[in-house]
Amino acid sequence: MTREERQLREAIIAKCRWMNASGLNQGTSGNISARYKDWMLITPSATPYDAMKPEMIASMPLEGEHGSWEGPLQPSTEWRFHLDIMRGRPDVGGVVHTHSTYATVLAIARKPIPACHYMMAAFGGNDIRCAGYARYGTAELSELALQALEGRNGCLLANHGMIAVGANLDKAMWLAVELETIARQYYLSLALGAPHILSESEIADTAKGFSTYGLQQPKSKPAKREAVKGKAAKARVAAAGRASEKKRSSRK
Ligand SMILES: [Zn+2]
Repeated sequence: MTREERQLREAIIAKCRWMNASGLNQGTSGNISARYKDWMLITPSATPYDAMKPEMIASMPLEGEHGSWEGPLQPSTEWRFHLDIMRGRPDVGGVVHTHSTYATVLAIARKPIPACHYMMAAFGGNDIRCAGYARYGTAELSELALQALEGRNGCLLANHGMIAVGANLDKAMWLAVELETIARQYYLSLALGAPHILSESEIADTAKGFSTYGLQQPKSKPAKREAVKGKAAKARVAAAGRASEKKRSSRK
């Protein structure tokens, strides 16, 4: 296992733990996957997140035999839609699936979420669709989920939960939180009555500004400071080199 792959596996476990600690998910019902080269890494089936170790994450090839996997534990029972999303959507690097309460409540009522908040623009269109019902883990559910996700970064699953997808794991988790938030806001606005829904052009206009919205990259430092930092780093490397030279010579 490369260091990069191990770090990604650790990130999956950290996200799972955070997902439960934050209340977004309960128990072992949620699952997370991430793209790693030609593979999909996915949480194993029915394993408490606290006991999860990087080696326990299952890996599945994106090409080749559909459904084959490697690892000490079976992949999540929901591997099928995770895998089909990764295969069908090259833009997706991370998938988060939860049974978060408000998204699931709307999915039980089979209510798609309209553009009740400008954050809808982060999902790629004017609504978050609700995929029809099929039993968990089935090819049928996977097909329905992919249809509902067409041109979108999230969907509800009827009488089940929700899926959020992103270019990477961080973005997928960010959108999972946003989806549950919009679901809660929409639910409450329905309780109050007559929510006002934004128009297609209002969402399109918001989407324009979204290329820089959400997860920010740190601003690059001015060139001068970088140069100084570079010199300091070089000096540290040189000092470390001298120290290891010393160690080696003292071991002789
Ligand atoms: Zn599920």
